[in-house]
Amino acid sequence: MQRALGLAAQAAEAGEVPVGAVVVQGGEVIGEGFNQPISASDPSAHAEVMAMRAAARQQQNYRLPGATLYVTIEPCTMCFGTLIHARIGRVVYGATEPRAGVITSQLQLPEQNFFNHKVQVEGGVLAEEAGALLKDFFRKRR
Ligand SMILES: [Zn+2]
Repeated sequence: MQRALGLAAQAAEAGEVPVGAVVVQGGEVIGEGFNQPISASDPSAHAEVMAMRAAARQQQNYRLPGATLYVTIEPCTMCFGTLIHARIGRVVYGATEPRAGVITSQLQLPEQNFFNHKVQVEGGVLAEEAGALLKDFFRKRR
């Protein structure tokens, strides 16, 4: 998660909302990314998606069974959908995202039965640091 926070800081430096993500498998980082939809002109370039794309390329596999996705902020609908498609085993996030987060804040997607894959979830890891990055970023923009 420390590494994901470092990536989030990189996003902030690039003028993007600071979110960072890392995919770990067997104790090894296999992919990482930060939020960059503006600079990439890509609405799907969220940190989680960037990290999963990198991990899938590295593994030469569109599925990442048994991998853990660390992300600094609670994932949105798109990123949750992507991690289900990728068969991520576990997602660990930092701060909750009360408006658009879909783990506990809205929809509670991990508890829904219509997905053909179950993901383990853990939240609140280094939540203060992750939340502070976001708050700083939006304060400076105002
Ligand atoms: Zn997202």
